[in-house]
Amino acid sequence: MTVVLRTQDELDAWLARAPGPRGVVLTMGALHAGHEALMRAARAEVGTGSVIVTVFVNPTQFGPNEDFAKYPRTLDADVERCRAQGVDAVFTPDVDVVYPPGMQISTYEPGPLGSTLEGAARPGHFAGVLQVVARLLMLTRADVTCFGEKDYQQLALVRTLPSREPALAHCRFVGVPIVRDADGLALSSRNRYLTADQRAAALAIPASLSLVQRMLADGASVGEAQTAAHAFLDAAPGITLDYLVISSNGLDAPPSEGEARALVAARVGETRLLDNTAVHIHQAVKQ
Ligand code: AMP
Repeated sequence: MTVVLRTQDELDAWLARAPGPRGVVLTMGALHAGHEALMRAARAEVGTGSVIVTVFVNPTQFGPNEDFAKYPRTLDADVERCRAQGVDAVFTPDVDVVYPPGMQISTYEPGPLGSTLEGAARPGHFAGVLQVVARLLMLTRADVTCFGEKDYQQLALVRTLPSREPALAHCRFVGVPIVRDADGLALSSRNRYLTADQRAAALAIPASLSLVQRMLADGASVGEAQTAAHAFLDAAPGITLDYLVISSNGLDAPPSEGEARALVAARVGETRLLDNTAVHIHQAVKQ
């Protein structure tokens, strides 16, 4: 049975009886198969313990001109998806439950990783993310939590929480691979904003990552692959490139050889979409 909990009292009463360990999946709702993969990963982690999904559109991670007000809210359908995945509880608190008026909620400085890429495009975003992630994981008393590699920089940042927040020192963070539609587009709640034409245009995003992957596999340098992918996206109709970078798995400068990551952000109409993939850099052949 999947119960829906809204207040801290309801959550606490339920947690008092719920078998451990507790696996928690944090979402903003408008759930899709990517979120379902996280639910299954959480179940695999906790076995006969409890899986809790939170549905909360967090105001502190949205900038003033972003889509907080119009972010899709589809709670009934979300609960159905959770039920079908055998989730034990959906915690969907009001803003006042997460941030009770007058209560000081801990914040965590994102550091340098918080001001590059998504952090550069969305000032304050990662401070808001770290705050809500820590708060929700503490409220739900998470032992393990699953995050999508879809938001790769977010995953890198939230993984720093156990060393910074004593109440989360025991909590394990598990990364889950990106779930894509059959045509390659990474699933995202924001894909709902796209018209059919925009969705077709958005396919250039995964295509640019495939191009990078292929070029690097064929021995191109990081610079060559990046330049080609920029040119490809600049020429693609209906897309405005924000960034496409090849970096180390830790989001530093790329290694001269070995496993690395390619990350892209681009706008299609008003909708900002993210994607990334693992790549392999081959050592430059000396002439
Ligand atoms: P959101 O509801 O968009 O805040 O995402 C909640 C969680 O689902 C985050 O950990 C995301 O990285 C993850 N997620 C979103 N889309 C995907 C996807 N296509 N594949 C895997 N995980 C995803």
